[in-house]
Amino acid sequence: MNSIRPIILAHGGAGSLSMTVRQSACLQAALQVGYAWLDQGSSALLAVEQTIRVLERSGLFNAGKGSKLQLDGMRRMDASIMEGHQLRAGAVASIEGIVHPITAARFVMERTPHVLLVGPSAGRFARHFRLESQRPAKKLRRYSLESVLRRYGESHGHGTVGAVALDQTGTVAAGASTGGIERMLPGRVGDTPIIGCGVYADNETGAVSMTGWGESILRVAVAKTICEQLEDGKGPATAARRVLHRLVTRINGSAGCLVLTPDGRFAIRHSTPRMVAGWWGGKGGPIVKDRFQ
Ligand code: ASP
Repeated sequence: MNSIRPIILAHGGAGSLSMTVRQSACLQAALQVGYAWLDQGSSALLAVEQTIRVLERSGLFNAGKGSKLQLDGMRRMDASIMEGHQLRAGAVASIEGIVHPITAARFVMERTPHVLLVGPSAGRFARHFRLESQRPAKKLRRYSLESVLRRYGESHGHGTVGAVALDQTGTVAAGASTGGIERMLPGRVGDTPIIGCGVYADNETGAVSMTGWGESILRVAVAKTICEQLEDGKGPATAARRVLHRLVTRINGSAGCLVLTPDGRFAIRHSTPRMVAGWWGGKGGPIVKDRFQ
């Protein structure tokens, strides 16, 4: 009846570490969950949210239960979600005490006129919708500002999660969720909850979900810039390669991305040694790897 073949892509972060067996299994399971929603006619937005929830819940990635702690010992998370039909988007930053920041982001999009809620107020908002909570850190840690300023940016492990999807109506969506990066100052927010940087989705161009060194991704507004390349007629692999090249050569940044067009073409590219990611379009089994070029 319809000729659009749904597809879902997901990632578990870009960096230098190899994917573990458990991460691989979890990513495959997450892709299966997301695809099952698409297959039964659900929206790309729902598929992206449900895929990311599996990864947040697992504790195997730097998101949700597995989020890194900031230097004061607190877990503050960021997430965003966007759909490409009406360009609706929602995000939370520095949110504490919940398991599924991606769902809080969806609620911001669907239940408020806003796009981004931050900090304790975002947590109160999430609790209003009875989102599952997780215990805060046991006690606050002391940290030295000097050591952060000296060593920040030295190491970029991976584990942020994200997804992009195309549904049977031809709508694309993108989402991402993270606990941040190594040695973060309390209150630090990266690219993940910033629309146009960590995610973007537009049915006229495509959907992008980013991972990597957030400060560099913010400064190049990577997700939207990749969409602009798609708009100029570039394919997803060329668009991703060009923008990642600019990120590396202009500001020595590092990142990985999922890119998906509304006609189902896609690319997974990274400037880091590895990126944990995969895709599934319903045939065979999900493909999951930790290196894509
Ligand atoms: N982009 C995330 C951030 O900077 C981290 C990551 O993707 O690993 O918060």
